Amino acid sequence: MARQYDTESRRELRERIAELEAERDDARNESNERADFMRREGYRRCDIAACNCNSWHGGRAGDRLREIYEVLGERVNGQLPITVIEGLIETEDRLLAWERTCKEGESDGN
Ligand SMILES: [Zn+2]
Repeated sequence: MARQYDTESRRELRERIAELEAERDDARNESNERADFMRREGYRRCDIAACNCNSWHGGRAGDRLREIYEVLGERVNGQLPITVIEGLIETEDRLLAWERTCKEGESDGN
């Protein structure tokens, strides 16, 4: 009876170890995927001894977005920056078309 109990306990223990190893592997894969994403977004692991933050540096996506907001200034007025930029591009396209029309008129001698 004691021998059978040992066998059962060992089987359960092996199964539990396999479960924990699978969880560990999943966690490692997720961590690697996140690190790959950070690198693709321009971040890099801190290797500055004086900083020693054990984190990531770089990226600057937030800084770039703030720069866009600053350049657009009051034009944003509660809109998404992309909406404002699309409007500016449409305005430029209309002005360029108007300029072409004016130049065609000049070349016709009008
Ligand atoms: Zn650092």
